[in-house]
Amino acid sequence: MTTSQPSGLQILIVGAGFAGLSAAIECARTGHKVTLFDKVSSIDEITRYGDIVSFDPNGSRAFQKWVFPDTSSVAERMEEISRQTDWLDLFHYQGEFVTRQSFVEETKWGRRINGHRGGLHRLVYEFVKTRREEVEVRWGVRVVKYFEESDGAENEGPQVGVVIKGPDGKMEKVMGDAVLAAEGVRSRGRKLVLGLEEDEQPKSSGYAVYRAWFPSEPVIAKNPITKHLVEKGDQHEGYIGPDIHFLVSSIKGGSEINWVFTHIDDGNIEESWQFPGRPEEALAYLEGWCPVVRELVKATPPGRLIDYKLVYREPLPKFVSPKGRIALIGDAAHPFLPTSIQGASQSIEDGTVVAACFKRVEMSKEQVVPTALKAYEKLRYEIVHKAQAMGLKTRERWHKADWDGPEGVWKVPEKLWLLREEWLLGFDAEGDTYKRWPAIVKELQRKDDSHRPRGKL
Ligand SMILES: Cc1cc2nc3c(=O)[nH]c(=O)nc-3n(C[C@H](O)[C@H](O)[C@H](O)COP(=O)(O)OP(=O)(O)OC[C@H]3O[C@@H](n4cnc5c(N)ncnc54)[C@H](O)[C@@H]3O)c2cc1C
Repeated sequence: MTTSQPSGLQILIVGAGFAGLSAAIECARTGHKVTLFDKVSSIDEITRYGDIVSFDPNGSRAFQKWVFPDTSSVAERMEEISRQTDWLDLFHYQGEFVTRQSFVEETKWGRRINGHRGGLHRLVYEFVKTRREEVEVRWGVRVVKYFEESDGAENEGPQVGVVIKGPDGKMEKVMGDAVLAAEGVRSRGRKLVLGLEEDEQPKSSGYAVYRAWFPSEPVIAKNPITKHLVEKGDQHEGYIGPDIHFLVSSIKGGSEINWVFTHIDDGNIEESWQFPGRPEEALAYLEGWCPVVRELVKATPPGRLIDYKLVYREPLPKFVSPKGRIALIGDAAHPFLPTSIQGASQSIEDGTVVAACFKRVEMSKEQVVPTALKAYEKLRYEIVHKAQAMGLKTRERWHKADWDGPEGVWKVPEKLWLLREEWLLGFDAEGDTYKRWPAIVKELQRKDDSHRPRGKL
């Protein structure tokens, strides 16, 4: 991986999720120094939770560029621990096979990576560690305040930074040139960016997801109803019923199994990756469903079931703070529904684009940050919201499927296929930034003539 000359910029990043880590790597790659804070005490605490996470070719593109000293890329290492399927078999909820959607054609856009979030996340972090000279990671540090204040000094930009509470409880003010707020759906940075007294709470989307991941031996592998899922290597199946879809994956040669299904949210659960679910309650949503699905739920070991509330936020009006030094990235800017299969990929793209923008601006230190961050917002705003909308479309396709009509699913099974479109999956976020840069710079110039950015093209 190439690294540009040191830029002299110090970037503060809040949150070591996929958005924060990818921004750190890409910023290091473009010559900036990065300090990254996460409130949890270590990477182990991040990787302990969660189950399946998916990267489509547009998201995995960055992993290909990140090459370890032994010349293996993050993408190659991820593939080794990911699901080895290039199809999705779709069934009616009572068990009848409907259609197979193949993803073979998509290799022209890149890799699809579906695996355990913890394992994939750890690989990205391992790669961050190879950039120790540029990226300092501070664990156990909670950011309690963001600031962007004018100190009154002439010709100096506003002071920007964060107030942190360290593991010893001590408060510290840390200054930088720019702050990237990558702290997920409950972002504090959002308050400052949007100029709110109090941040609005995320709303319930009306749905929640039961999620489980566990070894397939002995129960799944020995049960004649479920053993087909694991005895011939990895499988990927979806069961579609009224207002519910149930997806099951077997991974690591069939030795591990993961299932997820949506259910109407009755408001009793929290938005947390640690909220336990009860298999008997999950089963109550699946009355009349086929034995494969019911046996999978019954086989879930105690403590392996999570009930995750799907929250929703209206699209934010902007991603960048009033003085242009703080930007929201990843879920902090745009939480995704799982049916979009794009949340993690879009967070990687955000990190790539923000760093590419820093690379393209050539001007005084005071101007580079606001120009780069406003350009980032312009480049990302439309596409992330379009991708978000795809999640809703897929959910409608599945949950409200017309099965028996003249144009219904039994006649046109492809109606159940996931929407897989080139504008999204074939998207090269870094290339797009460079391509659109001159036009974006012009537009920003028109809006704020005093910044006068010059592209490096
Ligand atoms: C524990 C956990 C488990 C998950 N499991 C899955 C899964 O199984 N499947 C899936 O598709 N998606 C999962 N996700 C969500 C998924 O990772 C994100 O939707 C997507 O990758 C975008 O990531 P992000 O970096 O924007 O946010 P996140 O992944 O939410 O990362 C945000 C990070 O910011 C840190 N943070 C938050 N507030 C502060 C603060 N004030 N100061 C310092 N640090 C802060 C958090 O500790 C966290 O590490 C999970 C998220 C979490 C946090």
